[in-house]
Amino acid sequence: MHDRFEDIDYWKAIILYGLNAATYKIALGKTLLELTKHNNESLEWSTLAKAYLDNYINRLSANPLPQQSNPSRRTVMERITTQLRLGTITYEEALGMVEREAFNDVIPRFHTIGVNKLMGAEKFYHFDHGKKLYLHDSLFRIHESSSGELYKELDARWSLLEGAFQMGHDNWDLANDIREIYIKKGTERTNITGNIPFLNGYQGNVCFYCGEQMAPSDIHVDHVLPRQVVMHDEIWNLVLSHSLCNLHKEDFLVGKHYLEKLIDRNENIMGSNHPWKHKISASLGATKVARAKSTYYHYENVRQVLGNRYWENSPTYNRATDPFYKKLITQLNNKP
Ligand SMILES: [Zn+2]
Repeated sequence: MHDRFEDIDYWKAIILYGLNAATYKIALGKTLLELTKHNNESLEWSTLAKAYLDNYINRLSANPLPQQSNPSRRTVMERITTQLRLGTITYEEALGMVEREAFNDVIPRFHTIGVNKLMGAEKFYHFDHGKKLYLHDSLFRIHESSSGELYKELDARWSLLEGAFQMGHDNWDLANDIREIYIKKGTERTNITGNIPFLNGYQGNVCFYCGEQMAPSDIHVDHVLPRQVVMHDEIWNLVLSHSLCNLHKEDFLVGKHYLEKLIDRNENIMGSNHPWKHKISASLGATKVARAKSTYYHYENVRQVLGNRYWENSPTYNRATDPFYKKLITQLNNKP
């Protein structure tokens, strides 16, 4: 049996395995830890707003990096802190805006792990929206035992997200000629779930990314090289994964170890008698060497477009060797 899932495991799952399109959750995590040290079981909305705003002011004062993935938008907190910096609003007005506008999503959704809303529900607090937030014992316990480590982890995660958002923004206009090639050849999105039985025959019901068992209700078809670049649903680029692995990987680049794994998987298909192997040779080439070369060619193109925007900010990240992830996915598979 796997180890029990402790309070701190819930915290890590929430902070490290969330699907972050912005930095809100990280900022709220930091705010909660900071306010926990005062030992009050309930927090006024205004207290929360002040600590949250101060966190963003500190973060964005020197060299502000983007706080969300969409390059054409800014977060509520970026807007508020910019107005404050320009002097168009006072600190008091900024606080009021944070109270009214900043918490509508992040406070109700903080406990979500991946897409699972039940597993971590109300683990660290519950709230009366716009009025009070009530801290739970589990938050006091992890603060007591590990606050130093948790602060470091939050800062590291905040930087990682900002770095990824920045790279995404920088590359928006770059490598357009490469993108153009794929866009021109691009195909309409097809219904790719029909490939599940076929692909599962080559994966033995384990996830391509983490190597753990997949429940039948939790199988996603994932594009190893992001569809937003390659613009097709060809079988050689499709694998099966947990929904959480698929959604967390998002449009990031994976390391070469996953590419090698994909090449091996495709060679397994080529070595079988499945009729779809012709689809692979038509796309990648007639020989093993040619197919590996084509796969790397597309990988390098995607790397040009995404600009080394690696999953978890690391070319060596491998979920199959991440012990905490194994524990988490076991919990998620066993719970609603
Ligand atoms: Zn997985």
